[in-house]
Amino acid sequence: MIPVTQPFLPPKEDYEKKLELIWEKKWLTNNGYYVSNLEKMLESELNVPNLKYVTNGTLALQLAIKALDIQGDIITTPFSFVATTTSILWEKCKPVYVDIDPTTLCINPDKIESAITSNTVAILATHVFGIPCDVEKIEIIAKRHNLKVVYDGAHAFGVTYKGQSIFNYGDISTYSFHATKVFHTVEGGGITCISDELVTKVELLHSFGYFGEDFYLPGINAKATEFHAAMGLCNMKYIKQNLEKRKRISEQYNMMLPKEIQVIHIKENVGYNYAYYPVMFDSEDVLLRVISNLQTKEIQTRRYFYPSLNKLSYITENFDCPISESVSKRILCLPLYVDLDEYIVKEIADIIYSVIEGRN
Ligand SMILES: *Cc1c(COP(=O)(O)O)cnc(C)c1O
Repeated sequence: MIPVTQPFLPPKEDYEKKLELIWEKKWLTNNGYYVSNLEKMLESELNVPNLKYVTNGTLALQLAIKALDIQGDIITTPFSFVATTTSILWEKCKPVYVDIDPTTLCINPDKIESAITSNTVAILATHVFGIPCDVEKIEIIAKRHNLKVVYDGAHAFGVTYKGQSIFNYGDISTYSFHATKVFHTVEGGGITCISDELVTKVELLHSFGYFGEDFYLPGINAKATEFHAAMGLCNMKYIKQNLEKRKRISEQYNMMLPKEIQVIHIKENVGYNYAYYPVMFDSEDVLLRVISNLQTKEIQTRRYFYPSLNKLSYITENFDCPISESVSKRILCLPLYVDLDEYIVKEIADIIYSVIEGRN
């Protein structure tokens, strides 16, 4: 079986060595030694002003909305993982979907303004597959209408735009360090805020609103553990080499697959992370045939993202997102992980050609 993704694991001895200090210190959670170390290392590696490491990427999104203290409508993308929407709903705000740009697959900034009403409080957009949103246009719109901007950067670890981290845009950006992501800590997430005031608030909120001897805010428990941070520190050692491997595999796909189904086109001013390898077909019918032909060879793929989030059963209002709905039906993520063999890429390409050319 070829999985669509496979978590990277560092040599077991690396992790075992890290465990020794945990046993020695007997400090397992609550801003421990490894948690602080990982935060500092990520801040310097990614060149972001601050990074609060938390339990997972979904709580990171919820904390971001909570810290901004907003209530009302949040303009968001229909083409993302479901957590982008559920975090809005959990914070008792309303998601308002704006269709995506057909080339970047991120929210279409030119369609945002017509969706803004007096209830709009923020924009929550996803750098989908690690492709940067049009952060500059979004910033102009947000300033003009006095809106907060949150970026779901779950796919965007290590991505740069114009030479700096994509996490330096917006008011808050969130990370996911889940096992399936480019950089992981088994489970985990992170938050980067541009303002110091927000950093302090996120710090408080992630740990019951508690500091010193006082309870300042109604917080939650989103604390990360020493065991998870230790995995992150082990994985950091291999991140450069892993990104290189992902790049190599993606370039092999680029070479072997028909140009017209390729989705990721990296702009000159973007440093990309090769987080996913999506392809898009002419119709859902072709997509389903590709999936089943790959399945017979025990090659797994994932319909990422399907359905378009505005079509979720619990979203009852109608939103006009024809591009997202069409893309969702036709897009497929192919296997991509550091240990994926080159001959599998070739096999996948052959199967896809055979379907497109009507031989299967
Ligand atoms: C993975 C993911 C999340 C959620 O992250 P978890 O760490 O799994 O909670 C949020 N948004 C997007 C776009 C994701 O892919």
